[in-house]
Amino acid sequence: MEPKTLELRKDEDRRLRAGHQWVFSNEVDVVRTPLTAFEPGEPVAIVAHGGKPLGTGYVNPRSLIAARLVSRDHEHPFTQASAGSLIVHRLKVALALRERLYPTPHYRLVFGESDGLPGLVVDRYGDVLVAQFTTAGIDRLRNEIVAALEKVLAPSCILLRNDVGVRELEGLERAVEVASGTLPDELEVVEDGLSFRVPARDGQKTGWFYDQRGNRELLGRFAKGARVLDLFSYYGGWGLRAAAAGASEVLCVDSSAPALAGVTRNAAANGLTVGVREGDAFEVLKELRAARERFDVVVCDPPAFIKKRKDHHAGLTAYHRINQMAMQVLSKDGLLVSCSCSHHLSREEHLSVVRAEARHIDRSAQIVAIGGQGFDHPVHPAIPETEYLKCLFARVLPGSF
Ligand code: SAH
Repeated sequence: MEPKTLELRKDEDRRLRAGHQWVFSNEVDVVRTPLTAFEPGEPVAIVAHGGKPLGTGYVNPRSLIAARLVSRDHEHPFTQASAGSLIVHRLKVALALRERLYPTPHYRLVFGESDGLPGLVVDRYGDVLVAQFTTAGIDRLRNEIVAALEKVLAPSCILLRNDVGVRELEGLERAVEVASGTLPDELEVVEDGLSFRVPARDGQKTGWFYDQRGNRELLGRFAKGARVLDLFSYYGGWGLRAAAAGASEVLCVDSSAPALAGVTRNAAANGLTVGVREGDAFEVLKELRAARERFDVVVCDPPAFIKKRKDHHAGLTAYHRINQMAMQVLSKDGLLVSCSCSHHLSREEHLSVVRAEARHIDRSAQIVAIGGQGFDHPVHPAIPETEYLKCLFARVLPGSF
C-alpha cells in the first residue's frame, strides 16, 4: 500500500534539501495534510509545498520532530512491506565501516541518523546484539529490524533495550525484551587486548560506552608510571586501560557498588590490580583533597549533566564544580582528562570550564589533545545533535602563564 503524503509549508523543504532528516511539526502544512490524520510511526511520502517529492520516511504527530526522512528515493516507501531491504542495505553499509576499523566485533554498529537509520541504535558484543528503538517509526518496524539484523549478522541473541526516557517523547512505553535467541548473563567487550564483562540486561544505556574507545587508547600514552584516578568509572573502561599501560596505581570511583565489583572482577580477569571506592564523586573528591591525596592523572567522565536544554544552567555549574574539584587533587604536573557527553554543552563551553577552573585555582592549563566520539559514532554533517562527546586532555601546571 502506498503511504500517505505529508506536505511541508512553503520554503520549509530547505533544511531537508540541505541534508537534514527532520521535519518539525510547525513546518508541516497542516491545512493540506493535518498531523492528526496520522498514526504515530506511520510511513509517509514527504513532499515540498506544491507536491514535489522529497523522499520517504515516517511520521509521529505526537512528537515535536513530526517526521524523519529515511531515504530520498521516494520510489521505495518505508512501509512494512518494503522497509526490510533498505534496512538490510543500511546495516551492511554500517557494518563495512566498523569491520574496516575494528579487529574484533565489539562496537556501535548503528548510530541512528548518522547511519541513515533515524531512531535506531545497535551495539555489537560479539555475536550478541543490543538494540534500542527511540522513535515510533522504528518501533513499528520491530519485526523487520529483527529480521534484518538476523539476516546480516546471524547473531546468537538480540536484546531490545527499549527502556530509555526519550521514548516517552514519542509516546512509547519502556520495556526490555529478548527478541531472539538466548541472552547470556553478561556481555563481553574486547578493547585493544583488554576484556571486559558487563551485565547484559541491566547495564547503563546499552551496556558499554564504546564512544570513548579512542580516548581511552590515548590515555594509555599518558598513564605509564602515573597514579591515576578514574571518576565515574562504571566497569573500569578507563581505569583498566591505565593499569594495562603501566600506571603505578589506579583508583576507580563510582556510586554503583555492582559496577565497582565489576571493576575488580574485570581487573583480575586481565591480570591487573585496580583499587575501588564507592561513593558520590563530589564527596569522594572532597575527602581525597582533605586527605592530601594527589594523582598524576584524573579522568572525569560523568553522566550527562545537561540532558535537556532547560538544565543548561544547573548542568554547567556541575561541570565547573567537578572539574575544579578534580584539578584540586592533581599533582604539580598533572593531567586532567575532562569529558562531557552532553550535546547541550558546546565545545567552547567545555573548554571554557577547564580554562576558568584552572584560573580559579591559579594554575595554567595546556590542552594537549582534543578527543571526540569514536569512529563508530559518526557525525551527521547536517544534524548537530549527532555530535555530543567531548574529551579534553589538559595538562595542569602550577602557577599562571
Ligand atoms: N566512564 C565510564 C562511563 C560513565 S557512565 C566509561 O567510560 O565506561 C556514568 C557512571 O557514573 C555510572 O557508572 C554511574 O553509576 C556513575 N555515577 C553517576 N552519578 C555519580 C556520582 N554522583 N558519583 C559517582 N558516580 C556516579
